[in-house]
Order: sequence, then C-alpha cells, then structure tokens
Amino acid sequence: MKKAVLKGIGDIEIVDGPEPILKDGEALVEVAACGLCHSDVDSYLGKSLDLIPVPRVCGHEFGGTIKKLNGKTKLKVGDSVVVSPIISCGNCYYCKMGRDQLCISAGKGVQIPNIGQARDGAFAEMIAVPICNLIKIPDDFDMELTGIIEPVAVAYADTKGIKDSNVVIIGAGGIGLIALKLLKQNNNRVIAVDISSKSLERAKKAGADYNVNIEDKKRVEKIEDFLKGGFVDYVLNYHLSNDTMDFAIAVIKKYGEIKNMSTSDEKIETDINATIIKEIKMVGHMAYTMEEFKEAVDIIVGKKINVKDVISAKFPLEKTKEAFDYKIKENVAKVIIVN
Ligand SMILES: [Zn+2]
Ligand SMILES: [Zn+2]
Repeated sequence: MKKAVLKGIGDIEIVDGPEPILKDGEALVEVAACGLCHSDVDSYLGKSLDLIPVPRVCGHEFGGTIKKLNGKTKLKVGDSVVVSPIISCGNCYYCKMGRDQLCISAGKGVQIPNIGQARDGAFAEMIAVPICNLIKIPDDFDMELTGIIEPVAVAYADTKGIKDSNVVIIGAGGIGLIALKLLKQNNNRVIAVDISSKSLERAKKAGADYNVNIEDKKRVEKIEDFLKGGFVDYVLNYHLSNDTMDFAIAVIKKYGEIKNMSTSDEKIETDINATIIKEIKMVGHMAYTMEEFKEAVDIIVGKKINVKDVISAKFPLEKTKEAFDYKIKENVAKVIIVN
C-alpha cells in the first residue's frame, strides 16, 4: 500500500510498503479522504518538525471503510466510518475530567495525542486505528466529506453555546468558515476579518453579515458603525498575532470573551492591563472531546450545514506534495486528499 511520508522540510515521498499490522483493539481502515490541516502545513514547512518525529505520515482529518477488525465491536468489515484522531489513555487526570485532547499520553512537545502527529496518519491508502475511535456513518454518505468532519468538530467545539450574539471571527480559512456557518445557525451576527480579500469574499458567500480587512486602519470604528451601538460579545481568533490580539482587545465589549484557537510563532505581548480594565475573558481552546466530535458527525450526517463548498481542491494521494504546495501558494480554504 502507498503512503505519503514527510521526511523533512518540504520533502514528501510516496512510499509503497506492506499494510499496517493490527494490534489488539485496532481496525484497518481504507482511507477515502483526508483533509490537509494547517498543522500538517506547519510540519511540512518545518515549523513543528521539532514536535513531530520524521519520517512521519501526517493527516488526521479522515474517514473510510473498515477492511479488517482485531477486537470486539458492533462494527463490521465494510462499514463506512469517520475517525476521531485523538488517542487518549482514558485514565489520566485530564481524560477523567473529559478533556481527552489534554491527555498526558501525548508525550512531551506533541500538542495533541493525535493520529498524524504522535503516530502515523492518514495520507495513506490504509491506516490502523483504535476501534474505539471509529464512528459509523451511513453507507450512502458522501465519503469526500469525511475529509472535513474533523475541522467541523473543531469549529463546533469553538462555537458551542454561542447564540444570539455579535461575533467577530478573525481568519476566514477552513475552520473559520465552518465556524461562521455554525454561528449563523444559532442566530448570531457574524463579522469576518481577514487579510485576504479572497477569504473575505468566501466569508460573505458563507453568510457573514459584515467583512473587514484586518489591515484597515478604521477596522474597529467600522465594526462599531455596523453594530449601531451594539457590542461585540465574542472574538474567535483563528490567526494569533500581536496585531490580531491588539484588534481583539480593542473591539471586544467589556466583559466579552476572546477565544484564541491558533498558536503563533511570534511572542505575544498582550495588553494585560486592558484585559483587566475591560474584564475580558481570555480563553485558549484546542480541539474537542469525543462527545463533541460525535455531535459534529451528527451535524454533517444530518446535513445541518453545507460544508461541501468549503472544499477548494482535491488531489490524489500520489500528489500529496503538490497538494501542500497548492494550499500554501493559493491560500485556499480546504484541500483534501482523496483515494
Ligand atoms: Zn486539523
Ligand atoms: Zn489520558
């Protein structure tokens, strides 16, 4: 079977080899689709190569068909499944409090105990995964969408509980767009902020009520004018930088909430004084619990939002390197690898 192996910075090689051997409790999944995450791109660009060991097969946003089972389960060979990529121990302090993504088994330096980071991922024809990470989906499900369910789970966890509010989203990339669609379902007014006019155009099509370019010197005033005396209740920041933090702190209402969902290479020198004076709630957020992942699957299976249009391009596994180069060059929302 073929797999796309990341060997170093900008270096992906298609390697042919034997199928993975299943350990107890694992299933062999034939991958149908796997999305390219910005974290995969960071690894490809060498930004997180000190965090993940190479050679490594990346890819954690995927689903496919069960080919073999090595453990007790109600699932059957031939079932269509989507895979929650977080492999947690279930026993540590964090797992017991329901924060699977913070499990101590991730290992030092690895952000999340993820398939595709802590172990080989799904830019491959086949992958071995724990049976308990599989979620069955209907046989007639559009399997290309399995490549985007994981980002839906991220966006779902980021936006859960936000309703009837004014929300600024910074960064209208793949997850930002999905978050926007989910927020619109819950009667929120959404203002999209990005540096790229192409991304803002996409956000408008996806239902944004208002758009502002982050480079606009009057960005805060424009949003205040748009809200006509209303306040920004939440800022969801998908592009952490000193500038976006300054903007977030300036635009958020007193006692509002800023959620930061991306990490940054630059050292962030936030104006802590302003966060105290305005009593701003600052929250860091990463990934989702297994429950939230299942709820996100239900949203997509139940067609509650359309995410097909978030997929900008598809590449075959053999062209995984080209897919990375395309995503980096074209600044598109979502690229998926399809088998
Ligand atoms: Zn991801
Ligand atoms: Zn754990």
